[in-house]
Amino acid sequence: MNLDTPIEYLKGVGQQKAELLKKELGVYTFNDLLQHFPFRYVDRTRFYKIREVSADMPSVQVIGRVLSKEIIGEKQSRRLVAQLKDDTGVLELVWFQGIRWADKLVQPGAVFIVFGKPTEFNGRFSISHPELELYNPSAVKQGNLTLQPVYNSTEKLKQSFLDTKSLQRLQASALEIVGRSIQETIPDYLRSKHRLLNKADAIQQIHFPQNPNSLEAARHRLKFEELFFIQLKLLRNKLLRTGKFRGLLFGQVGEKFNAFYSDKLPFDLTNAQKKVLKEIRQDTQKGIQMNRLLQGDVGSGKTVVALMSMLLAIDNGFQTCMMAPTEILAKQHYASLEKMMGQGFINMALLCGSTPKKERRIIHQALQDGSLNILVGTHALIEDEVQFKNLGLAVIDEQHRFGVEQRAKLWRKNSVPPHVLVMTATPIPRTLAMTLYGDLDISVINELPAGRKPIKTIHLFESQRLRMFGFMRQEIAKGRQVYIVYPLIKESEKLDLLYLEAGIEAISREFPLPQYRISIVHGKLKAADKDFEMQRFVKGETQIMVATTVIEVGVNVPNASVMIIENAERFGLSQLHQLRGRVGRGAEQSYCVLMSGNKLSREARIRLQTMVKTNDGFEISETDLQLRGPGNIEGTQQSGVLDLKLADLAHDQHILQEARDAVIRIFEDDPELNTDKNVLLKEYFLRKTPAISWNKIS
Ligand code: ADP
Ligand code: MG
Repeated sequence: MNLDTPIEYLKGVGQQKAELLKKELGVYTFNDLLQHFPFRYVDRTRFYKIREVSADMPSVQVIGRVLSKEIIGEKQSRRLVAQLKDDTGVLELVWFQGIRWADKLVQPGAVFIVFGKPTEFNGRFSISHPELELYNPSAVKQGNLTLQPVYNSTEKLKQSFLDTKSLQRLQASALEIVGRSIQETIPDYLRSKHRLLNKADAIQQIHFPQNPNSLEAARHRLKFEELFFIQLKLLRNKLLRTGKFRGLLFGQVGEKFNAFYSDKLPFDLTNAQKKVLKEIRQDTQKGIQMNRLLQGDVGSGKTVVALMSMLLAIDNGFQTCMMAPTEILAKQHYASLEKMMGQGFINMALLCGSTPKKERRIIHQALQDGSLNILVGTHALIEDEVQFKNLGLAVIDEQHRFGVEQRAKLWRKNSVPPHVLVMTATPIPRTLAMTLYGDLDISVINELPAGRKPIKTIHLFESQRLRMFGFMRQEIAKGRQVYIVYPLIKESEKLDLLYLEAGIEAISREFPLPQYRISIVHGKLKAADKDFEMQRFVKGETQIMVATTVIEVGVNVPNASVMIIENAERFGLSQLHQLRGRVGRGAEQSYCVLMSGNKLSREARIRLQTMVKTNDGFEISETDLQLRGPGNIEGTQQSGVLDLKLADLAHDQHILQEARDAVIRIFEDDPELNTDKNVLLKEYFLRKTPAISWNKIS
C-alpha cells in the first residue's frame, strides 16, 4: 500500500464508508486522507473546575468523583445518570446507549477524568456520553495526554460513524502504513535555511502533535509549503512571460506627452506619481513586456498616471485602451480623460455594452486603421471582434474583478502582447496583492496631492439625526453639496427599498422646495433617468443627492463636501472607504457622517471606529482583512489562488514574505531550476504540468 492507494483498502473503511469519504470530503486515497487536516485541537492537558463549565464550550475536561448513579426512564428515554463532583460543584453524566457497560464502569467513589461537550438544562450542566478515564495522578504528570485533533465531519459522515473519533483512528492507521513514504517536496538546503520540519514529520505532527510546539512547527512547515509553491508558480509565470515575449519599446518621450505636461496638466505631480511614471518608463524601455499593478488610495491620482502612460505609448506610435469593470466607471474615465486633455487633443472613443451598432462599426474601423488612439470601455473591449491595429498599452481599472484570465485575453490583442497596467480602485492588503497579483510588479502611490484636507469622519447614532440635518443645512448654506447613501443589498432588497423611500420622504420634508433640490438615484431607475439625475447634481442644480451604492465608484463632483452614509453598520469597510472617497475632491473641508442604529455588533463597531480613526486606505484594507478574512474581500471569492488549506493571509504575512523572497532568490540564482539542489522543484512543475515542455522557458 502506498499514498495513492484507494481509501477503501484502509482497515475500517470498506466500500460504503469509502463512498462517503469521497462524496463528503473528497478523500479518494490514503494521501487525500492525510491531507484532511484537523481544523482544531482539543487541549487534553487543560483541566477545568466544574464551576467554570459553560454551555458555549465546545468541550471540557474535568476531574471529579462519582457521587451517585441511577438508571431512569423507560424504553427510548431509558438512561444512566451519574453525578460527578469536584470541590466547586456537581455535573451530570448521561448515557443513553451502552448503559450496561457504563453502569459497570462508573462506581460511586471512583475518580475520573471526564471529557466531552457540556450542555445546560434547567440550570444544570451535563455531558452525554463523555469519554472517561480512571484518574491516575502519576499518568497526568507524565503528560501522556495531549492535543487531540478535531476533524471537519458532516452529518452524513457522523451517521455512518465517521465522526472525529473514528477519523482520528483512520488517520492513525493511515499514518502507520504510509506515513514514512511521504515524499519531501522542499529541497534540503531550503528546509535548513528556513528551519522547516521535514514533510513526513509535519504530516505526522499536524494530526497527532506531541506538544503545542511541535504542532506549531508542523503548521509552519505546511503553510510555508503552501505559500511557497503558489509563489513558485506565479514567479515562474512571470519568468516565462518575460522570457517569451519581446516587449514593445516606448523609446521616446514625444509630442503629446510633452504638450500635455506643459500645457494641460493643471497641477504638479506628486513625488509618488512621478516615481510610478518613472517605473513605467523604465519598464517600457527594457524590451520586456510590462505587467504592473498600480496601487493607490482613492483620490491619489492614478488616472493621470494612466493617461500619461497612454500618451507615452501614443507618442511611440501605439494605440491604447482603458478597461473598467462597469459602464458607469468607464464613462467616468472617459469624461475625466477628456476633461484633462480637452477635446481634439487625442482621438478617443468609448465602447460599452450599450454602444449602438453603428457607432461600434465606426470605432472598429478607426481601431483597425490606427486612427483611434485611446479606447475606453468595459469588458466589451476584450471581445473578439475588437481588433486594434497596434495596441501598445492596456490599462485595466480592476477593482479586483477581472483576474488573470481576462488580463491574458488582452495580451492576445496584439502580435506582441501590449504592456499592461492594472490599477486597483482601492488599496488591497499586501498579502493579497502578493498572492492575487504575485506575477506582476507593484507600484504604490502612497501620498495624496498636496493641499488635500483630510476628510473628517464622525459617527452618529439614529437618536442624533437632528444634528445631522442641522449640519447639512449649514453646509448647503455655504454652497456645498451633499450625498446621502443608502445600502441596497441583494438579500434584503425589499426592506432596503422601504428604508430608501422612508429616507427620501424624511429628507424631502426637512429640505423642501424651492429652497432645496434633490437628486435621487437608485438601481431601479432607467439608465437615462439615472444619468439625468446625476447630471443635475454634477452641474450643481441640486444640492442633495440621495442614492444607493450605485455612486460608489467613479463619481467625481468636487463641490460635494459631505458624504452621509445611512445604516453605515451594514456596509463593509472597503465600501465605506470607497464611498467616503467621493468627497474631499475639492478645496473645501469635507466630511463623512456615518449614521447607525444604536445596537452594533463587535465587528460593526470596529468598522465604524476604523473609519473615524483613519483615512488611510492601506490601513483600512488591512483591518478589513483581519475582520473578514481573505475569502470575503471583494472580488477574491472566485480566485482559486485563495483556496488555501492552512495558510491565512490575514495572519501569515511573515511566512508569505519569507516564501516569496525565497522563490525570488531561487530564480535569480537558477532560473531554469537546472541545478541538482533544485531538482525537487523542477519535478514539481513536471508533475503539475506535464503537457508544457520545460525548455520553452528559455
Ligand atoms: P484615483 O486614484 O482615485 O483614480 P483620480 O485620478 O481620480 O484618483 O484623482 C483624483 C483627483 O485628484 C482628480 O480630480 C485629479 O485631477 C486630481 N489630481 C490628481 N493628481 C493630482 C496632483 N498631483 N495634484 C493635484 N490634484 C491632482
Ligand atoms: Mg479612479
